[in-house]
Amino acid sequence: MDQNYDVAVAGAGILGLAHAYHLAKRGRRVAVFERSAKACGASIRNFGMIWPIGQPPGAMHRMAMRSREIWLEVLQESGIWHERVGSLHLAYREDEAQVLSEFAQQAPSNGYDCALWSPAQVAHCAPMVRQSGLLTALWSPTEVCVDPRQAIAELPCWLNRRYSVEFHFGCAVTGYDAPHLQAGGRKWRVPHLYVCAGDDTQTLFPEVLQNAGMVRCKLQMLRSQPYPDRRLGPMLAAGLTLRHYRSFEVCPSLPALRRRVADEMPEYDRYGIHVMASQHGSGELTLGDSHEYEEEITPFDNPAIDALILDYLQTFLEAPDLQIASRWHGIYAKHPTHPFCVFRPTSNATLVTGVGGAGMTLSFGLAEQVVHENLL
Ligand SMILES: Cc1cc2nc3c(=O)[nH]c(=O)nc-3n(C[C@H](O)[C@H](O)[C@H](O)COP(=O)(O)OP(=O)(O)OC[C@H]3O[C@@H](n4cnc5c(N)ncnc54)[C@H](O)[C@@H]3O)c2cc1C
Repeated sequence: MDQNYDVAVAGAGILGLAHAYHLAKRGRRVAVFERSAKACGASIRNFGMIWPIGQPPGAMHRMAMRSREIWLEVLQESGIWHERVGSLHLAYREDEAQVLSEFAQQAPSNGYDCALWSPAQVAHCAPMVRQSGLLTALWSPTEVCVDPRQAIAELPCWLNRRYSVEFHFGCAVTGYDAPHLQAGGRKWRVPHLYVCAGDDTQTLFPEVLQNAGMVRCKLQMLRSQPYPDRRLGPMLAAGLTLRHYRSFEVCPSLPALRRRVADEMPEYDRYGIHVMASQHGSGELTLGDSHEYEEEITPFDNPAIDALILDYLQTFLEAPDLQIASRWHGIYAKHPTHPFCVFRPTSNATLVTGVGGAGMTLSFGLAEQVVHENLL
C-alpha cells in the first residue's frame, strides 16, 4: 500500500485542477492522478475564453461570475498569462442588431454588465474588426482570456508549490473501493475520490456515468500564425454565436434569426458552426468551432468544416495573410438538459462532468460549490 492522501482527484483537466485547488485550500492533503503524461483533453483544446456572457441569467451566470473571480485570484497569484479583454458580439445584419438590442435592454435586470457600441467605438478598441457593414456590437467587460495550453500545463506546478498538491502523471485511476485506490498498477489509501475524467465514462463508475444520458460532442478548431504586432482587443463573436449561447434565449427575436440562418446558411446549422476568435500572449489567434454529436463523431477532421469557419471569420475579422499553424479537434461530454452533472454514487466518491462548452468558464465556481457541499 502506497502513500496516504485525504483526497484523490482523477483527471488533471480544468475540473480536476479546480477541485484540487479548493480541497487543498481547505487544508486537505490532495493528490491528482492523470492518465496521460500531460493533460491533453478538452481543457487544452479550447479557446481559453472565460465567458460569463454566455451563461443564462440567474444561477448559472452567478456561478460563472464567481468562477471568474476565483480564476483571477489564481491567475494573479500564479503569474499565469491572462488578459481581461472582455468580449464583443458583432452585428452585421438587422436581425442580429435587434437581438443584441433586446439583450442589452434586459441586461441590467438580468445581472449582465454590457452596452451597445457604435462601429466607431469598436474601431477604437478592436482594430482588426471589419468595419464595412458593421451595424453595432454588444460590449461586455467580464470575459477573460487565458492560453489553455499554457494554463493547464502551469497550474499543476503552481498548485504543487503553493498548496503541496501532488501530481501523478501517466497514472490512470483504474479502480476505487474506498479507501483503496488503484492507479498506475499501484494501490493507495485515500478516503475520498473526485472523478473529473472529462468525456471518459468507461473507466470509473461506468454504471453511473453511462446511464446519465450525457452525449459526446466533437469540435473542430484552428490556430493562426502569431500576429506579434496586432492585438485583437476584446475576444470576438458574431451573429452565428447568438444562436449558440443560452444567454440570448431571453431575446424575443432570436427565433427569427435562427430561421434566417437555417434558410441562408444550412451548412452552418448542419455542423453546428458558430465562429469566435481569441488571441493569446504570443499573438496567435485561436479560431473555431463546430459541433458534431455521438454517431457523427469520427477520428478524422472534415476540411469542409474548417473552410466554413474561415469563410465566416472573414465576414467580421481582417487578419491579413492569415495562415493556419495548427488544426485539431476536442471532445467534451454534455447533458441535454443540465448545465453540469455531479453524482455521489457512494459517500466516498464524487463524479463531476458534463460541463459541455463552458467548462473553462464554470470550473472554479462549480468546484467551489461541489467541495462546499461535500464538506458541509
Ligand atoms: C474545442 C473546444 C473549445 C472549447 N472552448 C471553451 C472556452 O473557450 N471556454 C469554456 O468555458 N469552455 C470551453 N470548452 C469546454 C471546456 O474545454 C470543457 O468543458 C472542459 O475543458 C472540461 O474539463 P474536464 O476537466 O472535465 O475534462 P478534460 O479537460 O477532458 O480532462 C479530463 C482529464 O481526465 C483524464 N482522465 C480520464 N480518465 C482518467 C482516469 N481514469 N484516471 C486518470 N485520469 C483520467 C484525461 O486524460 C483528461 O486529462 C471548449 C471545449 C472544446 C472541446
